[in-house]
Amino acid sequence: MSYKYVYLFSEGNGSMRELLGGKGANLAEMTNLGMPVPQGFTVTTEACTRYYEDGRQIAPEIQAEILEYLGKMEEIAGKKFGDAANPLLVSVRSGARASMPGMMDTILNLGLNDTVVEGLAKLTNNPRFAYDSYRRFIQMFSDVVMELPKSNFEKIIDEMKEAKGVKMDTELDADDMKAMVVRFKEYYKQEKGVDFPTDPKEQLMEAVRAVFRSWDNPRANVYRRLNDIPYSWGTAVNVQMMVFGNTGDTSGTGVAFTRNPATGEAKLFGEFLMNAQGEDVVAGIRTPQTIDQLKNVMPEVYEQFATTADRLEKHYRDMQDMEFTIENGKLYMLQTRNGKRTAAAALKIAVDLVDEGMITEEEAVMRVEPKQLDSLLHPQFEATALKAAKVIGKGLAASPGAACGRVVFTAEDAKEWDARGEKVILARLETSPEDIEGMNVAQGILTVRGGMTSHAAVVARGMGTCCVSGCGEIAMHEEEKYFELGGMTIREGDYISIDGSTGNIYGEAVPTVEATISGDFGRYMAWADAARTLKVYTNADTPRDAAQAVKFGAQGIGLCRTEHMFFEADRIKAIREMIVSETVEARKAALAKLLPFQQGDFEALYEVMQDRPVTIRYLDPPLHEFLPTKEEDIAEIAGELNITVEKLKQVIASLHEFNPMMGHRGCRLAVSYPEIAEMQTTAVINAAINVNKAHPEYKIVPEIMIPLVGERKELKYVKDVVTATADKLIADAGIEMTYKVGTMVEIPRAAVTADEIAKEAEFFSFGTNDLTQMTFGFSRDDAGKFLDSYYDAKIYESDPFAKLDQDGVGKLIKLAVRLGRETRPDIKLGICGEHGGDPSSIEFCHNAGLNYVSCSPFRVPIARLAAAQAAIKAKKA
Ligand code: PEP
Ligand code: MG
Repeated sequence: MSYKYVYLFSEGNGSMRELLGGKGANLAEMTNLGMPVPQGFTVTTEACTRYYEDGRQIAPEIQAEILEYLGKMEEIAGKKFGDAANPLLVSVRSGARASMPGMMDTILNLGLNDTVVEGLAKLTNNPRFAYDSYRRFIQMFSDVVMELPKSNFEKIIDEMKEAKGVKMDTELDADDMKAMVVRFKEYYKQEKGVDFPTDPKEQLMEAVRAVFRSWDNPRANVYRRLNDIPYSWGTAVNVQMMVFGNTGDTSGTGVAFTRNPATGEAKLFGEFLMNAQGEDVVAGIRTPQTIDQLKNVMPEVYEQFATTADRLEKHYRDMQDMEFTIENGKLYMLQTRNGKRTAAAALKIAVDLVDEGMITEEEAVMRVEPKQLDSLLHPQFEATALKAAKVIGKGLAASPGAACGRVVFTAEDAKEWDARGEKVILARLETSPEDIEGMNVAQGILTVRGGMTSHAAVVARGMGTCCVSGCGEIAMHEEEKYFELGGMTIREGDYISIDGSTGNIYGEAVPTVEATISGDFGRYMAWADAARTLKVYTNADTPRDAAQAVKFGAQGIGLCRTEHMFFEADRIKAIREMIVSETVEARKAALAKLLPFQQGDFEALYEVMQDRPVTIRYLDPPLHEFLPTKEEDIAEIAGELNITVEKLKQVIASLHEFNPMMGHRGCRLAVSYPEIAEMQTTAVINAAINVNKAHPEYKIVPEIMIPLVGERKELKYVKDVVTATADKLIADAGIEMTYKVGTMVEIPRAAVTADEIAKEAEFFSFGTNDLTQMTFGFSRDDAGKFLDSYYDAKIYESDPFAKLDQDGVGKLIKLAVRLGRETRPDIKLGICGEHGGDPSSIEFCHNAGLNYVSCSPFRVPIARLAAAQAAIKAKKA
């Protein structure tokens, strides 16, 4: 038998999401559960991959198989494709493995042409419905398949409404719809030079092709990069028998969640519109009714829907997001999936499901996206400022949090202003998937149209970005870049504030304050902590950051970048003195001035961290970073340092390097100037001794980390300076104290010779920022300029400085782990590059057998959860 690329819904099941996509697998599962699902078939994700392999062609045998299944579908439906007497109409929808809301394209009412529409009108005795369906089809097909902008069709509709003097689409009658079809087709022919395709089979094949193609559209590519979805997965295509929500007043369509996706409240939540088709609800063109109101409109249908929703939630043991249509009083389920939700809702639902006995604590740990926790950790309005602020309008509280920024009116402007360092609120009539990048950089999103299930609401919630949607009171002038609300005119660049938890809009800047975590968070994170084996440390250079991280659950400091302490006004002078010193004595004298500051900093860190491990990394950057560049600063600083301007300029010139990141930095500084390592060791050890004296219970074990090592002897050279200094201080103090000396592994040579290096190093910390930079051979500071071309060309799918390159850099890490442990079985291994706070990289670290990850304070909770999920996944594998 030849390879199978197409499955009837009745041939699949819920576990086949890799092959059938999420939507296809769930349609199959609902079919198996005997739910009212309009039947159809799924063209697999493998057919999509094949389409790309074959140079963007649907292979003839796959086309034949699709037509064969169309035949089977006709039998099931008892209707025929293209048969005016008894027509089968279908929807064609994308459905990837991971849900990508609004990212890809949908076509409804496919199968209509001039004869079929007449048949449909006769059959239903409803010409308005038939022609409304037809004009929608032409519109969607032209947009999705032929790439004719939807807005041009909307313009035609607006012109027709204006000519007739009506406001709503529903006020247009059958003749108007007929006329609209004619105008749409004229427009199509004018743009495309050919007639609108009339053969339903050709329409179908074109539509399938368009869905495959949409997997590669720019907005899908951006969404995938934001959500770690591999390009190689491909999308499935679902071809499903149409049912109609637009046949009249006993028909309708809606979207509902089994629990509230914003708060997690355990109550059916959603919206519906009578006499409408699917797109109308999500597009937010008409304002829908709440699902509760369906009880009054159609009590039996409501009951049946509520029961079905409950069954689905119990079956999937998770909150469901469902689409349904009512056709002439009969309910149909079009889709179900695990619903997107806010972080607060995700936590509440996970905890509630445990309390309801539906899932285990470990399952609950898998239910919250680590990155989502971000939104719990984000700002709220400052309470007194909020009281004083005046509400100028109110929309829907679509995605919680508080945002304050300057208004921009396009996604492009949002990106531009953000790049200039401005905080922006993106205000739009409504958002569309093209706006995704602008939405991603905005502090908040404000829309005029759209309900709680509109694009803006769903996407913002997923991003954890504050969003107020559907504020119909706004008089929006997008093109002229201003809007009017509550008697105010808000222009581009004006400050506004929006509250995604209440829907309030303020025509002024309202300051925000840090988030406070409460409620279920502690309980939930305790489950995560119980599941994980990786420890979570933080990268912190100040007592304030360290304290914040401890509050978030950090178990130690994995990286204290000591140079950050040198930039404060009272220290920079001493370090500059050191740099311009011409003799060892002069250098030592300058370093002696730095010592008390550095020691004080470390004491404060130890006070905060108590006896949690604190890894102190020695001076790393090239020295020129501490010297001025501007002419006027040079003169001033030369004065301060008591040297001539010429002398200072000479020093600056002598420090010039063509490639400073690969120059005189890291341990190379200590090799040239051992007295720097001596001073830093004195500061670390004295600080530990002092704090231990004050708190004998702490038992501090200092961890000293030498950066940028690539050779064992280099490490030994610096380590000898460290141990000679430390041992003497400890002996002089007459106390017992142990300490560790380790290194960063951030140069490929260190990874490759890790067995040698481990002879000297008691711990390794993978500095994956530099390790990525040096493995790829491109600069961590400049790669942004060209990485976009690499994404476009599908060479890289994500930024290797954000998400660890497991195939290359990861291979070096694994090698170093193995070699390091061969030499020193109890070697402590961690990561302190930016990847230490990235969930997929953390999973890699768990699997590579590291002992800890270290990340910035606000990412500590994310790392705790990601580490727990990695442990649970590995256990199951
Ligand atoms: C690294 O290179 O990964 C690292 C943590 O050090 P830095 O970012 O300070 O170079
Ligand atoms: Mg580094």
